[in-house]
Amino acid sequence: MRIRFYGTRGSIATPGPATVRYGGNTSCVTVRSESGTLVVLDAGTGAAILGRELMAQSGKVCGHILIGHTHWDHIQGLPFFAPLFVPGNEWDIYAPRGRRKTLRDILAGQMEDTYFPVELDQLAATVRYHDIVDETLRLGDIEVTTRYLNHAAPTLGYRLEVDGAVVVYAADHEPHSRALAASPGEIDEQDRHHAEFLAGADLVIHDAQYVAPEYPSKIGWGHSTVEYTVAVARFAGVKRLALTHHDPTRSDEALDALLERLRATGQAEGLEVFAAAEGQEIELSGIAKSLPK
Ligand SMILES: [Zn+2]
Ligand SMILES: [Zn+2]
Repeated sequence: MRIRFYGTRGSIATPGPATVRYGGNTSCVTVRSESGTLVVLDAGTGAAILGRELMAQSGKVCGHILIGHTHWDHIQGLPFFAPLFVPGNEWDIYAPRGRRKTLRDILAGQMEDTYFPVELDQLAATVRYHDIVDETLRLGDIEVTTRYLNHAAPTLGYRLEVDGAVVVYAADHEPHSRALAASPGEIDEQDRHHAEFLAGADLVIHDAQYVAPEYPSKIGWGHSTVEYTVAVARFAGVKRLALTHHDPTRSDEALDALLERLRATGQAEGLEVFAAAEGQEIELSGIAKSLPK
């Protein structure tokens, strides 16, 4: 499978000279299987760029969009996602069942005429909306397992398996243990449950918006610290960890420094950690797994 980052920024799009390398667009990642099944994880502002790329293809453009939750930074690219405006294209959009509104109503809400010139009903593609829970989905040849994360709104993480490889996408998520968010320690029951969801993945793409010293003033905002994310990924035996949902105040230089600090302190020993960057592409293959040891 092939993974590509179109948006790695958390909370609000943050273009500018300080975010050129890691990117300023909000959450959007694609997973494409070798057979061509396309899954889009979140549709933040990065989805607008993805949409333009897909429009350059010939023929029908079809795929699945898995939205972790419907906060702005995960859906604002949808009204600018060009494939939805083309008759004949087919898209399935999934998100966790909301407390009050359906996914369709939520997405229609952000396209009401007070906010946007084109309404949801005017989308010319065939679009199906799915309100989902903690479950397993089969999207073409990709098997998807969902798991609730710890966030202000109902939020799902997604574990995708295809071509002999596993990728997990988990944004946004706050540590269950506040102590673990701020400093190293025992991983207790609920965070263990989260680790189980990441277990053994070839790649985990995980919320890492804050660093530990920032956390005390951000409690309850629904995000992980880098330190927590690294600790849980190591505990879970993850192979590679992509830190994402970068804080809007985190410059490219600050992200570099953060990675350097992880290396220097040995906090991430045994784990390949990097900060997800817009435009970055990763290929995961199951072939290595079947080779003799
Ligand atoms: Zn977010
Ligand atoms: Zn959120």
